[in-house]
Amino acid sequence: MAGLPVLEGGSVRAGLDGLGRELAAAVEGEVRLGLHDRMLYATDASLYQVEPLAVVIPASVKDAVRAVQFCASRGLPILPRGGGTSLAGQCTNRAVVIDFSVNCRGVPSVDAGARRCRVEPGVCVDELNERLAPLGLFWPPDPATSRHANVGGCIGNNAAGARSIRYGRTSENLLSIEACLADGTQVRFGPGAARVQPRVADLTGGVVEIVRAQAGLIRERYPKTVRRNAGYGLDEVLRQLDAGVPPLDVNLAPMLCGSEGTLAVTLGAELLLSPLPVARGLAVVGFASLDEAVEKVAPILALRPTAVELLDDMVLSLARANPGCSRLLDVLPVVNGVTPAAVLYVEFSAERDRGEIDAGFAALRGLLPGVPAMLHVEPSAMLRAWALRKAGEPLLHGVPGDRKPVTFVEDNAVPVERLAEFVRRFREIVTRHGTKAAYWAHASVGVLHVRPMIDLHDESDLALLRSIAVEVADLARDLGGVMSGEHGDGRVRSPLIERFYGPELVRAFREVKTLFDPQNLLNPGNIVAPLGAGDALGRGGPGVESITEKLRVRPICADVRAPIVDTYFDYAGQHGFGGAVEQCNGAGVCRKKRGGTMCPSYMGTLDERHSTRGRGNALRLAITGQFPGGEVGSPAWNDAETLATLDLCLSCKACKAECPSNVDVAKLKAEYLAQGYRARGGAPFVARVFGRVRELSRVASLTPRLANAVNRTGVARRMAERLLGIDRRRTLPEFAAPLHRRVRGRVIRRPDDLRGGAQTVVVFGDCFTLYGERGLGEAAVRVLSAFGYRVALADAGCCGRAMISTGLLEDARTTIDRTINRLLPWLEDDRAESILVLEPSCLSAIRDDWLSLRTTTPIEVRRRIAAHAVLVEEFLEQRWGNHPNRSEVEAALAARPGGARMLFHAHCHQKSLWGQESSGALLRRIVGDGLTTLDAGCCGMAGSFGYTTGRYDLSMRIGELALFPAVRGDPGATVVATGTSCRHQLKDGVGVRALHPVEWLASMLD
Ligand SMILES: Cc1cc2nc3c(=O)[nH]c(=O)nc-3n(C[C@H](O)[C@H](O)[C@H](O)COP(=O)(O)OP(=O)(O)OC[C@H]3O[C@@H](n4cnc5c(N)ncnc54)[C@H](O)[C@@H]3O)c2cc1C
Ligand code: SF4
Ligand code: SF4
Repeated sequence: MAGLPVLEGGSVRAGLDGLGRELAAAVEGEVRLGLHDRMLYATDASLYQVEPLAVVIPASVKDAVRAVQFCASRGLPILPRGGGTSLAGQCTNRAVVIDFSVNCRGVPSVDAGARRCRVEPGVCVDELNERLAPLGLFWPPDPATSRHANVGGCIGNNAAGARSIRYGRTSENLLSIEACLADGTQVRFGPGAARVQPRVADLTGGVVEIVRAQAGLIRERYPKTVRRNAGYGLDEVLRQLDAGVPPLDVNLAPMLCGSEGTLAVTLGAELLLSPLPVARGLAVVGFASLDEAVEKVAPILALRPTAVELLDDMVLSLARANPGCSRLLDVLPVVNGVTPAAVLYVEFSAERDRGEIDAGFAALRGLLPGVPAMLHVEPSAMLRAWALRKAGEPLLHGVPGDRKPVTFVEDNAVPVERLAEFVRRFREIVTRHGTKAAYWAHASVGVLHVRPMIDLHDESDLALLRSIAVEVADLARDLGGVMSGEHGDGRVRSPLIERFYGPELVRAFREVKTLFDPQNLLNPGNIVAPLGAGDALGRGGPGVESITEKLRVRPICADVRAPIVDTYFDYAGQHGFGGAVEQCNGAGVCRKKRGGTMCPSYMGTLDERHSTRGRGNALRLAITGQFPGGEVGSPAWNDAETLATLDLCLSCKACKAECPSNVDVAKLKAEYLAQGYRARGGAPFVARVFGRVRELSRVASLTPRLANAVNRTGVARRMAERLLGIDRRRTLPEFAAPLHRRVRGRVIRRPDDLRGGAQTVVVFGDCFTLYGERGLGEAAVRVLSAFGYRVALADAGCCGRAMISTGLLEDARTTIDRTINRLLPWLEDDRAESILVLEPSCLSAIRDDWLSLRTTTPIEVRRRIAAHAVLVEEFLEQRWGNHPNRSEVEAALAARPGGARMLFHAHCHQKSLWGQESSGALLRRIVGDGLTTLDAGCCGMAGSFGYTTGRYDLSMRIGELALFPAVRGDPGATVVATGTSCRHQLKDGVGVRALHPVEWLASMLD
């Protein structure tokens, strides 16, 4: 923290030499002071980037109090943080960031009878609701980010979700807040709190006085919409006074909701819970135009649904192009053979019996006769539909071109009956300014999320942004609404507060801020400043110009933009290298703690640094020259801290599919490593060894018994640990004699020996099958022969997977070119119709990396090979009706005893790129209901990742998250896993020998 510049917006103006060390001594938890660590907390999901002073990860809630007290004693600004998913920039500041999301996630008590629970601020909404579900209860505020947003952040933003029409916002679902004030005093805001705590009595009395003085203006100027989140919630206090609550009994907790960490630091909360509905039903209704859909919202509301949500065609077409989301589109109705231009989600909830859902659907059909709709009642289908809706905002970041849908007027709330007019007039504004916008909405409460297309690198577009911001805020106000419906004010809308409420109410806000935080330490610069600390014009907050200051993307004519780099990969599909580097929008989907695969290292560490977002930010900062060693237009290629941030990435490719913005960290990591090697003239020894696993395996397979015996000795393990960093607790892979020796006479080995194609298949000789994994290659030959095929074995060389993962892209390119040249003859003259691959990570290289790497082989040739490459089990399932020996195989399978149980774990690359059904469908055909496809994320091994000393423990921890417990939980089941690494991990982690699907199938047919 040495020599830090003057603090922004705070009352403290000091150099902070030595304070970092003192802070570290004052708290038990972790204090991060390095530039790199701090910069990973410089952004949230907004447009902004502000370098924090320090990051504290408190060990407990008590420890967080110590951190606040330390900051208070030294006059340091404080920024409390949850999931960091804020869209208005309120979670970025030049302050000491306190990250509650790691260790402050407890749920100290649940009182099911009274429908209440007490929570710590860092617990995620979905995590909490999973714990409450067995009690038949839930906490209703469900922002689209509920999987990774924290309760503390929901309070900070007064978050609300799709169902707020029925359940209200956070402020309506909370009883009390335990908090730490800016001076470090611990208090409780709740019913009766002012009667027992003098400090709370003072604050309550002060706020009541301010509210009484402004009662007329509060009634007149506060929006009457269900969602409203601009300024402080003085209307919440007035509501209590109007209801006759004596001043000392006024509960300030609802007013603290939406205060964005500017009034107090939340340490805990008592939440009000609701009974889970008996059932839910979701109608997804398609319309030919956005206007048509918006017009139907008001009449639909009369049917008393629990949610009405809108998605427009821009969002839907982006979903079609996203590998993860495109798999969800079957939940939508089809209009004239195509996906509709806009859809409304209409949800009904049953409180007593399912009949209420049917009645809701019937009423909807009556209201919209002939309008195409899909009616979902299956929980899994509804979950998929909601996943698509929740991906709406992040998906927009994948839109092509320099102009992107930008978040700054995305949060307007207007009375529902004026929504159609708002959409029309909004469109007029953006059209007049020469751009367009994407629309989606919590239509039931008149909240329209609109994103105009703006190029943030372009100064003239920034001027446009400011004009649109002001005009839209005025429009929302004129229609009886507000510019901040739920996402809050932050940096983007605080400058508009005075325009909206007028100077008198802004003065009232400043009085409130002064009461709570006279030194302006709590998240300064957001909402308002205390009295006496306004801007140069004496106002309580920044001017409109500040909306476009401190952007994370800088104008092209200014300092940082991704430099022109001679890249190894092609980035045309990601709007160039610059586009790929800036692709992460910070929405934090990669911070979910379970379900899906992204991001295993975050799930295993809960550390922002080891999330996809952390890596995306680190890469962006390093490549745009914002880290030491880099400068404008010149990346910091070998930045040690960036390398450390990338180190725990498993290159599992889950982010490529599951990140709604398709941030592909595996690809960027490989590029970054390769550029670094190029810059320093070569790759390190260990990377070269791991990248050449095929050659090493080939040598070992010449004398496999000897190699295996040596590998099992303690000496070899210690040597491997010392020289290569292979953890001695890890078993080393077994080798076998080369496969072609083992299957001599049963396979064709040279393309020239192949004649005529229909009955011939080529097995791709990957290094695991050729030189290790005794039994798998033989099994493949037996199975394919049993199905009636002539089998050829192509020892064409390496797919390059290990080289790509270790960043040896120079070598990978030449290797791939060579392998392609050797593979091509197998396809000439239709000799063979398919190249069958056993190992998913090799197939992912062929189908994904080969097409993206800039090799000398023409792209059409690479595409041709990729189009012919398929998993063995995928091939068998796809052609089931046409196999030469189909009836014999079916007879053999029918003769096997039924009733077997199977647990199936798919490889991460397979799940990400072409789905686990590519193997699962064949297994299900044979095993039927006995098959359980595990949603167990990543196994934790990921090629060489899990071998190394620094990663072994994390590798095992990731395995323990879901896969190991699932396998231990069903000891009698056959375990099938497609990846070599996954099978190795299961052996080391659970002591179970998992089979490749083809090995298992061979055992069924033998
Ligand atoms: C794609 C996307 C969709 C969204 N959809 C919705 C939606 O449907 N509804 C909605 O309401 N919001 C939505 N949001 C905004 C945001 O995700 C939510 O408001 C969410 O509740 C914020 O939670 P968080 O844990 O990420 O908070 P953070 O971003 O970490 O913090 C939010 C604010 O609360 C303050 N804060 C955090 N913890 C504390 C604490 N312990 N004490 C005091 N202050 C604290 C922070 O300083 C900050 O000002 C969306 C955001 C994105 C990116
Ligand atoms: S990496 Fe993807 S999921 Fe994670 S924050 Fe960035 S955009 Fe969102
Ligand atoms: S490749 Fe896997 S481990 Fe790496 S950032 Fe993406 S999801 Fe996380």
